[in-house]
Amino acid sequence: MINFQYLRTTTAKSALALLSKDKNSKFLAGGTNLIDLMKRGVTAPEKLVDINHVPLKQIEQIGDKIVIGALASNTAVAENAIIKEKLPLLAMALNAGASAQLRNVATVGGNMMQRTRCGYFYDTEMPCNKRQPGSGCGALGGFNRMHAIFGTSDKCIAVHPSDMCVALIALDTIVVLASVKGERKISFKDFHRLAGDTPQLDNNLKADEMIIRLEISVNNLAKNSYYLKVRDRASYAFALVSVAAGMEISNNKITAIRLAMGGVAHKPWRLTASEDFLKGKEPSIENFKQAAKLAMTGAKGFGENDFKLQMAPNSIIEALTVAKSKA
Ligand code: SF4
Repeated sequence: MINFQYLRTTTAKSALALLSKDKNSKFLAGGTNLIDLMKRGVTAPEKLVDINHVPLKQIEQIGDKIVIGALASNTAVAENAIIKEKLPLLAMALNAGASAQLRNVATVGGNMMQRTRCGYFYDTEMPCNKRQPGSGCGALGGFNRMHAIFGTSDKCIAVHPSDMCVALIALDTIVVLASVKGERKISFKDFHRLAGDTPQLDNNLKADEMIIRLEISVNNLAKNSYYLKVRDRASYAFALVSVAAGMEISNNKITAIRLAMGGVAHKPWRLTASEDFLKGKEPSIENFKQAAKLAMTGAKGFGENDFKLQMAPNSIIEALTVAKSKA
């Protein structure tokens, strides 16, 4: 048995002070991924700082921004009236993730921090550069059906497992982080990292920081939004491929567009080339097909996941078609 210390705190300031005292501390919120990682011996923090009672659960509109506290539960966000009306893409993505029981305890910040579900990462007998840098990658040439087709490296081909994060990158979310030195803001697209030569790092959160809240500008994409998740079974399965699509359509022209994919890269994958192509064009099936083709530039399969090379563009076309049909 590996012992650890359990502490509970009620303010962000004291949580950050406890974190800065001990490099091998971790915050505990819903614990839906962290406890699994501890039970399997993938991670072994010496100190768990329970932050569930820190008041970071707000979901509110302030001016033209919707603010979501890092400790708001996935269910609270998905069922919030403001989110359902103004950011339905986020509500759809959240409801596509995990099970109702998990969504009830999983938090927004924890969802962002969850780790890949690559089987080799969870099996401490197997090589995995993410768990143990320099040990190799079991998935390259191994079981890689769930793995990435974009932005891969020769060190790691894992995918980020979140649905929520795919919607958040599409919504141009701003992440507010805090340390004992103060707050800083970063774009959601810069929060998660590609694996590169440092697959052990999933994101750019510094060791002495915590996620405080998200800020999302109100937009006009709600009417024509859709989150498509393609998975092996209807519930409680991670995405093989997912697509977050939101459009603003006026006089049969796309005046604003947001597109992102999940299940295809080490981070939520924004499709900027496809967005640039579609902006100002008619929302036609021909244009959706062309946008999907553009999105696949640089895609590469690793054997078992080659099917994603066809599934991904088909999913983009389907998500855009459904989003358009809501007009
Ligand atoms: Fe580990 Fe990444 Fe390779 Fe999976 S894909 S075995 S997480 S290094």
